Amino acid sequence: MSDNCLFCKIIKGDIPADILHEDDEILAFRDIAPQAPVHFLVIPKKHISGPSDVAAEDEQLIGRLMRVGSEIAKKEGIDHFRVVFNNGEQAGQTVFHIHMHILGGRAMDWPPG
Ligand code: C5P
Repeated sequence: MSDNCLFCKIIKGDIPADILHEDDEILAFRDIAPQAPVHFLVIPKKHISGPSDVAAEDEQLIGRLMRVGSEIAKKEGIDHFRVVFNNGEQAGQTVFHIHMHILGGRAMDWPPG
């Protein structure tokens, strides 16, 4: 846990979120500013600042994010979805606790902006 981290505060329950899944390692919640009809975030409870900070010991945990996120996507009724990890400010990262965006329910453009 990191004291000044917004997502650690959501994990602790200090900031409310619309939670879709919780287990001992992972939390998933709807994005507060959705960019698609379905847009949720999947995060590890362990504080990792971003994709560049994933350590060898986190490999299984980060793999689980994908599996849990895909299961939620199925429950949300989206077979086609985009998975996004932003890494660093220039890439659009605003919260420095690693999070997997899952967006679906509309057609997506490529390349992303
Ligand atoms: O990848 P990036 O760091 O920009 O994503 C952070 C995401 O966290 C944003 O999509 C933002 O809407 C979301 N957010 C949220 N709940 C908060 C604060 C931010 O869902 N309380």
